[in-house]
Amino acid sequence: MSDLEALRKQVNYDQTFDCVQCGYCLPVCPTYETMKRETHSPRGRINLVKMAGEGKIKIADLKEPIEKCLGCMACTTICPTNVQYGRILEGAKEAIEQHEVKSGFQRKTEQFLFDRVFPSSRWMGTLGNAAWLYQKSGMRKLAQVTYLTSASPLNVSRFEKAVPDQPGPLERSLRKHRVRPDYKLRMTVAFFTGCVMDGVFFDTNQNTMELLRLSGAEVVVPRNQTCCGALHSHAGKSSSAEELAIRNMEAFDLEEIDYIVNNAGGCGAKMTEYPHLFERGTYWHEQAKDFSEKVRDISEVLVELDGLEFTEPVELTITYQPSCHMTHVQRVSEPPLLLLNQVRGLKLRPLKRPDFCCGSAGIYNLVNYDESMKILDVKMDDVKEKRPDAVITTNPGCLIQMRVGIERTGLEKKMEAMHLVDLLMEAGPVPK
Ligand code: SF4
Ligand code: SF4
Repeated sequence: MSDLEALRKQVNYDQTFDCVQCGYCLPVCPTYETMKRETHSPRGRINLVKMAGEGKIKIADLKEPIEKCLGCMACTTICPTNVQYGRILEGAKEAIEQHEVKSGFQRKTEQFLFDRVFPSSRWMGTLGNAAWLYQKSGMRKLAQVTYLTSASPLNVSRFEKAVPDQPGPLERSLRKHRVRPDYKLRMTVAFFTGCVMDGVFFDTNQNTMELLRLSGAEVVVPRNQTCCGALHSHAGKSSSAEELAIRNMEAFDLEEIDYIVNNAGGCGAKMTEYPHLFERGTYWHEQAKDFSEKVRDISEVLVELDGLEFTEPVELTITYQPSCHMTHVQRVSEPPLLLLNQVRGLKLRPLKRPDFCCGSAGIYNLVNYDESMKILDVKMDDVKEKRPDAVITTNPGCLIQMRVGIERTGLEKKMEAMHLVDLLMEAGPVPK
């Protein structure tokens, strides 16, 4: 196979012809709206990939427009010809990653983060514990007063205030790996904890397990599970994503469970896409199909179980910011709204453009901070108009980004951002 043929296979060149250049995707693309350049629109990017596959431009020329894509997939929902933009995007990222010249230090740092930290529950727990120590010991205040936080790499300091108070090491170590309902057992589910969710939003994960248990589900937490691989795919590291998918498929006993439940839109989307990581007809492709069929968002399972009654009124006006990957990849939209409607006292004011990405997109807000904030500002204009007390969402990245948006607009005393699961726990859930 020639180099050009190999590149065409890698970037899914044949699928670029499915785009008929109609432009229906332009109004839904956040980066086209904020950057106002055809090269930063879905069809523009598809064209560039096609040109790279024909040798008309270099792979390096793809880097900027492809890296500025959020991967929100809003373009795929609107596309009349069902262009598989996600495949094209991931192929292009992989090609860019392979051809990019990086310093030894950069490669080693990336290797450490992607191969050691994200996939390791021990590492993520350690980071959570370090954050707890930082918050509790007074170091946080000291770092803020002395502006030490601003010395952190990748704009991390700008997100510091959005991180919730962390539980201590003891609380983390007491996590149960199997919980059973008090009354009738209605199903058995395995809980996918996620790397960022478990490291940063441990309490939300605990609440997730409790809601499932109260609804009548036995919940198991497989010990050998690892990161879903979404962050690796976003970074063009497809072979690492494959390895993680295999580790997860080995960790979950599909015979024992009805569903694999997650509470992070990005992780759920990645796991429903595991079959795309493997060649059709291979052993792992077949395993991935079985695995992905069992993946569900928590909201879907709670609606299906219909086992909760909410006893405490929650007198809040809220708006709901759906996770893009939950909407456009998992195609789950209704269940969170059905659950919110069950909570007494809540007033829901829908956003004008709920499908417009908040700009979080994995680690997009860390590596493309300025562009991410322009997109967030568009989102916050919509949010401010609704004047909610709280913005509800279903993904850790969106949650952090919405908190940053609230802080940017100076509304932190009037508005908060919450995960759907935490709001449901405040509503006094009891078994029906
Ligand atoms: S909507 Fe689909 S077919 Fe039309 S330009 Fe966009 S990607 Fe191409
Ligand atoms: S994935 Fe999102 S940002 Fe990227 S081209 Fe599609 S709509 Fe635009």
